[in-house]
Amino acid sequence: MKRILVTGGAGFIGSHLCEYLLESGNEVLCVDNYFTGSKRNIEHLRDCPRFEVLRHDVTIPLYVEVDEIYNLACPASPVHYQHDPVQTTKTSVHGAINMLGLAKRLKARILQASTSEVYGDPEEHPQREEYWGNVNPIGPRACYDEGKRCAETLFFDYHRQHGVPIKVIRIFNTYGPRMHPDDGRVVSNFIVQALKGDPITIYGDGSQTRSFCYVDDLVRGMVRFMETPEAEPGPVNLGNPGEFTILELAETVLRLTGSASPIVFRPLPQDDPRRRRPDIGRADALFGWRPGVPLATGLERTIDHFRNVLGHHPVHCLA
Ligand code: NAD
Ligand code: UDP
Ligand code: UDP
Repeated sequence: MKRILVTGGAGFIGSHLCEYLLESGNEVLCVDNYFTGSKRNIEHLRDCPRFEVLRHDVTIPLYVEVDEIYNLACPASPVHYQHDPVQTTKTSVHGAINMLGLAKRLKARILQASTSEVYGDPEEHPQREEYWGNVNPIGPRACYDEGKRCAETLFFDYHRQHGVPIKVIRIFNTYGPRMHPDDGRVVSNFIVQALKGDPITIYGDGSQTRSFCYVDDLVRGMVRFMETPEAEPGPVNLGNPGEFTILELAETVLRLTGSASPIVFRPLPQDDPRRRRPDIGRADALFGWRPGVPLATGLERTIDHFRNVLGHHPVHCLA
């Protein structure tokens, strides 16, 4: 049994990771400031005696005793990370410094949840880890993209300079139950709109692509990578290489929900990446990881979740 710290543990991916680590017999300390996460995401874990929750902002130093750290704290949806962009960069950069300082003192392994956004609007397709990316450093997405890039820099420098054992993953668009209904990302938006009979809002003409990974596949990959030998710091892409246009996603959600919602087209946000698909050869070669859940199956599970949530609570109460 290990004592494992999960920052951002009350968020969408973090709550699934906490659950998985507890199921594997570990002690889990969940740290979160509830900016985009919620107590409801971890409510079902509260009775487990090996689970502990601390309300804390990672931009402030943290002194705890653990064996391993997963650093996920950071809003991930463009709507939320652009709400307070200065705080977003602080969370990525100061958060990384504090968690790396903690890992250095404890000589603990630390995994960074980086992102495919480090590739920006990619000129290489699919994206391999060797690609340095195409990020606008002063645009509205930069607080997130450059914050995450700087966090990667800090991870590799703490590794080289202080010998901290690091694991850096680059997560591609991930979806599943416990995304917040008002999260603003495309999968949750489309499902909630379809279930409520509201128009499906496609930004641009819907020809831009994304590759969607179901959350259980991702969490399995994160933990598998954490368990690989110390000599392998990454970065490693984790995502599902199945690539879809946003219009295809909208049509699939409409079909699976049986909704009659109309599709409407809205302006494309600035710097919105045109296409994105991970090359996952490195994860496969290093720890035999490939995602197993096809998009339709994952969407069905996510739709079930949102049917439940929307059926039980009026949407405006879901803070
Ligand atoms: P999320 O917004 O649901 O979760 C983020 C969590 O971090 C929330 O619980 C939030 O309250 C918490 N948080 C934010 N700022 C904090 C701070 N300063 N101190 C403490 N806690 C803080 O998002 P998610 O989709 O679960 O993403 C989790 C991580 O994975 C993020 O680091 C994100 O950048 C990364 N990621 C996610 C995706 C994806 O598609 N979901 C893709 C790439 C990377
Ligand atoms: N830190 C922390 N918890 C710890 C150890 C360090 O939050 O258990 C913070 C510490 O406050 C510092 C940061 O991590 O701001 C970086 O630590 P490091 O040891 O690298 O830097 P230093 O303390 O020498 O500035
Ligand atoms: N998008 C959309 N309608 C929405 C929300 C998002 O068409 O209601 C588009 C968005 O412009 C982008 C893609 O879907 O091209 C994925 O957006 P998301 O915010 O989920 O993730 P990211 O852009 O960070 O990959």
